[in-house]
Parts: sequence; structure tokens; C-alpha cells
Amino acid sequence: METKLSALNSRKNIALVAHDNMKSVLSDWAQTNRDTLAEHNLYATGTTGYRIEKTLNMPVYKFVSGPLGGDQQIGAKISEGEIDILIFFWDPFEPMPHDPDVKALLRLAAAWNIPVACNPASADFVITSPLVSEAYQRDIPDYDSYIAERIK
Ligand code: PGA
Repeated sequence: METKLSALNSRKNIALVAHDNMKSVLSDWAQTNRDTLAEHNLYATGTTGYRIEKTLNMPVYKFVSGPLGGDQQIGAKISEGEIDILIFFWDPFEPMPHDPDVKALLRLAAAWNIPVACNPASADFVITSPLVSEAYQRDIPDYDSYIAERIK
């Protein structure tokens, strides 16, 4: 797959998702990192979004709830280049009815070269990276050359 560079602003679009058993963990993490998160645009699946909005007292763009399609909505935004970082505290101890959506979201994050944090330690490493508040050139699939190759 050919790739091209995509410019990210210093203000990032950060998507937050937590499975039910992880919602308090994500809320605590968000509270600890409130000052940094306040410098970026926050997106979340429905229930997570309400929790984070209440915890931080700052606006969060809310997709529908994960089991009803919110994970897929975030995946779609990733493929449209509108999400820069994914903080996704998925539950390693609980099967989910929407496991295929979870897998699809993680797959698209990998395909589009999005940094993903799956637990508080990885999220700490991501959020304290100087790159979070700097412009950055991200390598992404070159869709024009991809489609040109497929239709020739
Ligand atoms: P929720 O969705 O934030 O609406 O609970 C998260 C998920 O389960 O994917």
C-alpha cells in the first residue's frame, strides 16, 4: 500500500471509549489529565461521553452508544481523517455483544496509523508525549493511488 503524509494540527481530535467495567478508570484518568485534554477536541461513544463530560465539565462530541454503533462511527471518522488519537479502555475480561465492532475499530486505527492506548499506562505514555501538542506528519494510506490501482 502506498502511503502519503497527513498533517496533524497541534490541537488534536481525541476519541475516548471505555467499556462499562472500565468507565470509572477512564474517568479517573481523564480527570488526572484534564489540563492536557482541555487543549484538544474530545469525541466519545455515547455513555462514555456523558461520563467524561460530567467529570471534566467540558464539552465532548458524543457519537451513539458503542453497542448501538458508536464504535463504528468512530471508525468511520478515523477513515475520514478526523480522529488523531484513540484512547480505548476495552475490557479484557468481558466478552461484548459488539466484539466485531471493537475489532473493526482497532483494525481501522491500525490501518490509518492512529495512536491507540488501551489502558491507563499506555494512555499516560501517549498523553505525555510532546507530539500530542505539536504539529505532526502522520503516514496514512494514499487513497488516490489505491483507487487508481484498483480501477485500471
Ligand atoms: P458506551 O460505548 O460509551 O456508549 O458505553 C462504549 C462501548 O461499549 O464500545
